[in-house]
Amino acid sequence: MAEVIDGKSVAEDVVRTVKALTAELVATGKAKPGLAVVIVGEDPASQVYVVSKSRTAKECGFHSLQHTLPADTSQDSLLKIIGELNADPAINGILVQLPLPGHIDAGKVIQAIAPEKDVDGFHFINVGKLGTGELDTAFVPCTPAGSMLLIERVRGKDLSGLNAVVVGRSNIVGKPMANLLLAANCTVTIAHSRTKDLPALARTADILVAAVGRPKMIRGDWVKPGATVIDVGINRIPAPEKGEGKSRLVGDVAYAEAAKEAGAITPVPGGVGPMTIAMLMANTLASAYLAAGLKRPSF
Ligand code: NAP
Repeated sequence: MAEVIDGKSVAEDVVRTVKALTAELVATGKAKPGLAVVIVGEDPASQVYVVSKSRTAKECGFHSLQHTLPADTSQDSLLKIIGELNADPAINGILVQLPLPGHIDAGKVIQAIAPEKDVDGFHFINVGKLGTGELDTAFVPCTPAGSMLLIERVRGKDLSGLNAVVVGRSNIVGKPMANLLLAANCTVTIAHSRTKDLPALARTADILVAAVGRPKMIRGDWVKPGATVIDVGINRIPAPEKGEGKSRLVGDVAYAEAAKEAGAITPVPGGVGPMTIAMLMANTLASAYLAAGLKRPSF
């Protein structure tokens, strides 16, 4: 059976380190890192994420600010708030919770965030830095950054000679994940909905990352024996066995089958999920270090 990669414990390690480095920064007379989270509307899942992000920011010792705006907030009002946060020296990281209501152009809002405060790593400047290997100053999207940390815990930092297959080509997970693996010297293939014979391709992977959004799509016999399997998927499916109307979370990988083949595998929940918020804290800390003229800490 595969080693189970405990994302919860790695995420706790990251948060503990962020907290210690924040205390060190403050002890040298510098301001504490500041994170502003902006949410528009009342999407219940988004509300849960935002509360959790603000809570973890406080736990790290950050200055934590939250703007909760009504669903009918205009795009101009939102852009004005972003402009104010860009100019506020107490704020190092700005996160706009997605999705935004339909009348707001999310792309325009994201590109309005100052790149040096774009701790989600979605601004074109940060996307470009990741793509060109400027990793010292790039902000990398939190979910792939967290997935990479989990891979490093199993395989080390230099992945030379390993084949990686990333299933999914979204801008927030698949593409940045592929770039991170490439920067670590993997031979990388990105698969998507038009890929031919995905099972055969997946079987070539020493590192297999699933970021699809389809419950249990990756089967056990798609997994090369000994592979490291990172399941980014979070899918809610009915769970009548838990009672009427109940549901549970599963990944994009058929876990029980894949765990028999893999060398190491992330569970869902408790794998990649907890890493996302931890890496948001790491990015905000990095932004504060860079703003103070210091080298960013590595994780
Ligand atoms: P997305 O934007 O919907 O992208 C899904 C990707 O999967 C697309 O590139 C799509 O291909 C590909 N795909 C769909 N069906 C496929 C198939 N049958 N075979 C091969 N590829 C297929 O999703 P996302 O935002 O990247 O998220 C992916 C999953 O990760 C979701 O379950 C999401 O909930 C989860 N997620 C988790 C976290 C976390 O914190 N752990 C964060 C973000 C996302 P095309 O491009 O060809 O359409």
